[in-house]
Amino acid sequence: MPSRALHEWLILIELGLGAVTFLALLFLAAPYGRHARPGFGPTVPARVGWIIMESPALLAFAWFYSAGPHRLDPVPMLFFGLWLVHYTHRVIVFPLRMRPGQRSMPIVIVMSAIAFNFLNAAVNAPQLSAYGIYPTATLGEPHFWIGLTLFLGGFFANLHADSVLRELRKPGETSYAIPRGGLYEFVASPNYLAEIIEWIGFAIATWSLAGLSFALYTAANLVPRALANLKWYRSTFPDYPSHRKAVFPWVL
Ligand code: NDP
Repeated sequence: MPSRALHEWLILIELGLGAVTFLALLFLAAPYGRHARPGFGPTVPARVGWIIMESPALLAFAWFYSAGPHRLDPVPMLFFGLWLVHYTHRVIVFPLRMRPGQRSMPIVIVMSAIAFNFLNAAVNAPQLSAYGIYPTATLGEPHFWIGLTLFLGGFFANLHADSVLRELRKPGETSYAIPRGGLYEFVASPNYLAEIIEWIGFAIATWSLAGLSFALYTAANLVPRALANLKWYRSTFPDYPSHRKAVFPWVL
């Protein structure tokens, strides 16, 4: 468990990392999935990469959380439960159900995601079980319910958007197609939009700088990738609907 002073530094580091990540990814799309390309060293199968790189978000988070004095208080347990629901899906269900293309994932991506997930666990788990103040009265606060609604709405929208992509490929297929229906009529990457909404919801529900640092990092990571995805769709499919934005309907 980081000390309170170290925890405050870790939050600042995550905020700074978000700014650096955003600027870097505007110029260089992370080389996995449709943006995979040679020159980034050895690779692992995408499914294995996802399981390994996201695991610290479950395991390290649970370890930090369980070291906190408020680990058995009801509201911290509820927030912990939300985190577990999201990451049990991301670590186990999503990789096992995905229909990855021919490209695999560079180990450098896996390593950098592991490092980030450790940092993020050290930022957000102590916030819940050690340094945040979450009495049962938190359940009567409007920000809790607004945040919870955004989190759950984002979570289910993310599941839906990812399932639309999965259905574009039959088992064994590796090609890409234009996704249609729902939020795909508005943006190229509604799975990213939903993920951003989800973590904004978590930040509002927990009313914390720790939660905000993760929400901002998520946006810093996914908005540039959504822009790259839109550019890729437009250059790959001449009939790609021209009115679709990258990630925020009608805006960007
Ligand atoms: P993508 O949308 O790039 O891909 C998701 C899956 O769908 C991949 O298996 C991909 O195959 C396939 N796919 C994508 N587009 C098509 C298409 N047009 N036709 C057929 N198949 C397609 O998402 P990511 O892999 O970047 O992310 C996966 C999930 O993880 C998302 O829900 C995202 O929100 C979340 N995520 C969260 C992050 C965070 O910072 N919190 C960071 C990164 C991801 P292929 O691999 O062959 O391209």
